[in-house]
Amino acid sequence: MVVFSLVAVVVGGLAFANLTDAQNRATEQLDPAASQALRLQAALLDQETGVRGYALSAQQDFLAPYTQGLATQQNAVRLLQKLVGTNPTLTADLDAVLHQVDIWRTTYAQPTIAQVQRNQSPLVSPEVDQGKADFDNIRQVLTALLTDVSHARQQATNGLRHATTLLVVVAIAIAIVLVLIVAVLAIVLWGGVLRPVNELTAQVRRVADGEFEHPVAHSGPREVRELGVDVNRMRARILHELSALQTAHSELDASTRDLQRSNAELEQFAYVASHDLQEPLRKVASFCQLLQRRYGGELDERADQYIGFAVDGAKRMQVLINDLLAFSRVGRLVRERQPESCTDLLAQAERNLGESIESTGAIVEHGELPTVLAEAPLLTTVFQNLLSNAIKFHGEQAPHVTIDAVRQGEEWRFDVTDDGIGIKPDYAERIFVIFQRLHGKEAYPGTGIGLAMCRKIVEYHGGRIWLDTSVQNGSRFCFTLPALAQDPVGATPVPTVSSNAIEDSDA
Ligand code: ADP
Repeated sequence: MVVFSLVAVVVGGLAFANLTDAQNRATEQLDPAASQALRLQAALLDQETGVRGYALSAQQDFLAPYTQGLATQQNAVRLLQKLVGTNPTLTADLDAVLHQVDIWRTTYAQPTIAQVQRNQSPLVSPEVDQGKADFDNIRQVLTALLTDVSHARQQATNGLRHATTLLVVVAIAIAIVLVLIVAVLAIVLWGGVLRPVNELTAQVRRVADGEFEHPVAHSGPREVRELGVDVNRMRARILHELSALQTAHSELDASTRDLQRSNAELEQFAYVASHDLQEPLRKVASFCQLLQRRYGGELDERADQYIGFAVDGAKRMQVLINDLLAFSRVGRLVRERQPESCTDLLAQAERNLGESIESTGAIVEHGELPTVLAEAPLLTTVFQNLLSNAIKFHGEQAPHVTIDAVRQGEEWRFDVTDDGIGIKPDYAERIFVIFQRLHGKEAYPGTGIGLAMCRKIVEYHGGRIWLDTSVQNGSRFCFTLPALAQDPVGATPVPTVSSNAIEDSDA
């Protein structure tokens, strides 16, 4: 394309220069030369007429055309010499004319004028006729000049026509070759670049759509082939990563299944064990109590003490097994969840704890609590366990417990705050593990199941529970529950409502 452009510019330029040249020759050189030759002819004729008239009349007026013709001749000759200077034929013709004019002037015109002026009388006709005959030589060479100028003019016009035709032909040839080159380039580009790129694109798209097994065939120019090789390398890497991922996934699946199975087995075991242990335990407890009642005081003091230990142990074990049974029941028996008012559930929990609230003189306060989707008995248990702990682990004074709820995005966050003995932040996680207790049973009674149960229930309802370790005096347990879909966002807690559970339950 570049070579062709260069050739086209050179050839077109040459043809155009040729045309300009021919045009200049015709219009700037030979056209003016023809008119100057005619002007020269007219000037010479004027001179001849002037001399002849003066010779025949001897009147000075008749010499005017001669004088004017001479001036015009000199001007025309000067211009002609300039115009035909490069043309040897026309220069020779002009020289011949000037030579003949010179002869006529020196042999006839000037002597004749001088003679008439000297004699102040006209010449006789034969002498005048001689001058006329001498002028015929001028006519001959002048005619030759005119003919040659006209011939040269014709040639220049022909040259102009040829140059125009040549320029048109060159332009058409350039256009045709250009079209051919573009067509060839398009074919080469399509076959050599676009087709391989299109094929590669189609194959890469298949890979991108997930057919990682499909190898990408690569052909065409080097760049396209390299791209194909790179795509294949990428494909191989993805395949490798995928298989690694699949292996990890199936291993994870297997472990999850194992975990679920062992979890289910454990829960099953806890449930069956606690359920099946109840009956023999009840028997042991009641017979121990019977023994105590019937033979109390009949045996020695140590035997009474032993029987007391056995009764106490059996009772505690009953409590423990009951709690364990309740714990393993969470989520086992799925009941339909209903929108439940947390205010009502808390009131129920307070009623259940009426005795301990009364004995400790606890004050329980709560803000406005929302309605959430829940299994009522389970959520009541959460409130009850947290409230029971807050009352149980009280400090010097009567316990003071507050329960609040705030909306946080799509969920409600509940805070149960007390002013009791508090919990060290180090134990924030441990206290939620089943059977984990921070105090001996003599100091604070309990089984260590309460908080584990709370966590299980809250998570079963789609929430989280944690200890707020930033609290300095007392402790605060926080838990979240999903808000109802129709609940407006940004509900603000209302002033705390103070309630005394005893009065509530009495009422
Ligand atoms: P339990 O109350 O039967 O001991 P929990 O699982 O309810 O078992 O609680 C685990 C431990 O967490 C308790 O033994 C106690 O040490 C600690 N704890 C729970 N709640 C409170 C609280 N409100 N204040 C201080 N300590 C608490």
